[in-house]
Amino acid sequence: MSDWTKSAWRAKPRVQMPDYTDPAALNAVEAQLSKYPPLVFAGEARRLKAHLGAASKGEAFLLQGGDCAESFEQFSADGIRDTFKVMLQMAMVLTYGAKVPVIKVGRMAGQFAKPRSAPTEVVDGVELPSYRGDIINDLAFTPEARIPDPARMLQAYTQAAATLNLLRAFSTGGYADVNQVHAWTLGFTESEKAERYRELASRITDTLDFMRAAGVNRDTAHTLSTVEFYTSHEALLLEYEEALTRLDSTSGNWLAGSGHLIWIGDRTRQPDGAHVEFCSGVLNPIGLKCGPSMTPEDLKLLMAKLNPENEAGRLTLIARFGAGKAGDHLPKLIRTVQEEGANVVWVCDPMHGNTIKSSSGFKTRPFEAVLREVREFFAVHAAEGTVPGGVHFEMTGQDVTECTGGLRAVKDEDLSDRYHTACDPRLNASQSLELAFLVAEELSA
Ligand code: PEP
Ligand code: MN
Repeated sequence: MSDWTKSAWRAKPRVQMPDYTDPAALNAVEAQLSKYPPLVFAGEARRLKAHLGAASKGEAFLLQGGDCAESFEQFSADGIRDTFKVMLQMAMVLTYGAKVPVIKVGRMAGQFAKPRSAPTEVVDGVELPSYRGDIINDLAFTPEARIPDPARMLQAYTQAAATLNLLRAFSTGGYADVNQVHAWTLGFTESEKAERYRELASRITDTLDFMRAAGVNRDTAHTLSTVEFYTSHEALLLEYEEALTRLDSTSGNWLAGSGHLIWIGDRTRQPDGAHVEFCSGVLNPIGLKCGPSMTPEDLKLLMAKLNPENEAGRLTLIARFGAGKAGDHLPKLIRTVQEEGANVVWVCDPMHGNTIKSSSGFKTRPFEAVLREVREFFAVHAAEGTVPGGVHFEMTGQDVTECTGGLRAVKDEDLSDRYHTACDPRLNASQSLELAFLVAEELSA
């Protein structure tokens, strides 16, 4: 849009954003960030968009995953490595199931700001402002910690830059070699309980053996030992997003330099609101969360605003309805897309509609419900004759106990063992990989 400006969102109604109390401090941070290099480049965002365009036609499949909220305190090279590693394993299993390239996008290197269901929270009779993610305030339950501090944006930028640097090194430095990735997966399927997945894994082994024997590896050594790995986050904190927005000199378009793909949350997708306004004007691929309150009319308006040229790969619709509910909501939205002739990638987020409070008091998600929503998503697309283009998980490579169920059955009473998330419960490494095997079964069915 030619009259779009990166600050036009400021004139629109905003929700879920902090009220900073010190405007001078905020301005100073924005000025500083505006001078920093962008974290991603326009060519990369365009390349991801082209891959997503393929996913909209069933010629690629999106795997998007990572923390609900990245944390300053839990930031570590091992944490990044482990999530990267399990995502590569999942991608390999999914590639085998889908028979198309899998696009790997982390909820990483910028996933810091959180929308909340209530502005305050009460613990033991004490009411304080809600935690809104480390880029805004601190998780500690004290009045001081919960004051929004603009300086946290600088720390978020630094952490995102270091994360991306490591991801880029892992992607091209030999760590991502297919044979190594598959060896890790074989370790998982060797366990007695993973017997069900052994056959698929051994078919992958045969394929790799065949490729080696045929000399394919020699010719494509580079392709087989490097991966493309992209970053994404919810574009919630618009001061941060605006400050990292840059003009792309090649195309004359604006780039959100904070990450490759940015998405609009289910709580901030008002067609006339600030978040939609900001995202409408940047060239990046855009995600849009679609929850049960999304109407066909809203979706039409949003598609017109966010993808007026109907560019393939520009818009990814991330369905998050909850197990048992996809059938009530998804068909009418799919039909709206079909009627409009719109190019979109349909992705399933089976996490955000399936959060419950366990009997032990922890926020959790049952593995069974997550799997059920994925299956419903595939079934609806099969019935409508449309393309299921990908999956979106909150997950970590660490061995946490935040979601219940899975092969190594995490039970309600185990949740307190290693419950580390700063926000929503994540699938652990084993649950994530198991889910990839189950989704691969769906894809090849
Ligand atoms: C999220 O992805 O962490 C999130 C808050 O999702 P949604 O906007 O779908 O609730
Ligand atoms: Mn979440």
